[in-house]
Amino acid sequence: MTRATPILVSAWLVLSATAAHATAPIVIINKDAAGQGFNDPTPFTRVGGNNATTLGQARMNAFQAAAAIWATQLQSKVEVDVDAQWASLTCSANSGVLGQAGTVAVFQNFPHAPVANTSYAGALANALAGEDLSPTSSEITATFNSALGTAACFSNNPWYYGLDGKGPSNAVDLVSIIAHELGHGLGFHSFVDVTTGAKYAGLDDAYLLNLEQFGASPSSLKDMTDAQRVQACKSEPNLLWTGSQVTAAALASLTAGLNHGLVRLYGPNPVQVGSSMNHFSTALVPSPMMRPDYVQAQHDPGLALPLMQDLGWPQPQTSPVPASPRWLIALLATALIAVALSSFRASAKQ
Ligand SMILES: [Zn+2]
Repeated sequence: MTRATPILVSAWLVLSATAAHATAPIVIINKDAAGQGFNDPTPFTRVGGNNATTLGQARMNAFQAAAAIWATQLQSKVEVDVDAQWASLTCSANSGVLGQAGTVAVFQNFPHAPVANTSYAGALANALAGEDLSPTSSEITATFNSALGTAACFSNNPWYYGLDGKGPSNAVDLVSIIAHELGHGLGFHSFVDVTTGAKYAGLDDAYLLNLEQFGASPSSLKDMTDAQRVQACKSEPNLLWTGSQVTAAALASLTAGLNHGLVRLYGPNPVQVGSSMNHFSTALVPSPMMRPDYVQAQHDPGLALPLMQDLGWPQPQTSPVPASPRWLIALLATALIAVALSSFRASAKQ
């Protein structure tokens, strides 16, 4: 867990997403210190459309490419500011965390909120409200593993910095991982504590409204007791997404991963903090961007896009809502969702 860092406390560099037709502008805020992360001066050899000359710039180019994937698919008149940095995340020779991201703040009962007394991730709340509900802070925080490919962290599985998704089979496609993490920051996760079942601040959240455990009574996770929700979070294959946009898209695209007509979510037993409930099931075919582990490059959000619509994200063709006076409550929360690499070794063995 981490707290939002005020964006003026350290030297940082703002680079706007490069998407020519961005409808939800995503702004990347470089939080790394001089010589580190995005500022790493190590010479870089261009690859796969990434024409950077330093490692730091190559990382930023990949980040911009990932941001552009979402920026062209979502509608918001409010910038989505992303505090981004690189660090040595938990890792060993065979398992580790590639990246982690989450929303900085959640909001309820803001102007044009679709459902009362329900938490929305900051970027989504801003898009719906048509104004920045927390102008002094960023909407998303994201950290990526700078140690990947070193002796102590998947030494044979380095990052692939190309923008074309065509890296060697042993490499981890950075654009895919960043896009995945941004998906979490944009709202692809619940604020429920999967270990206790407790709702954040005792309130529903936009993601939670779309969850059910098939066969349970009650079936909707929002209506369950905390104890029932704990069970539901590890009830795969019965943990399902009920939102109509995902369901319609899935029926047209999936060849596996449905249960009673609804898309399965990741719900292993025992629960996996950071992964359970907040990803699609690994049973889905074709393999989605928002699965909990990395298996291949995936630059297409796929079912994550209709999921955003189920959450309430305006689509690019819809008219932006008018600005209105700012009021209301901002409850601070950071939800960090990590994408793990633990299954990579198995897939690499094949
Ligand atoms: Zn994830």
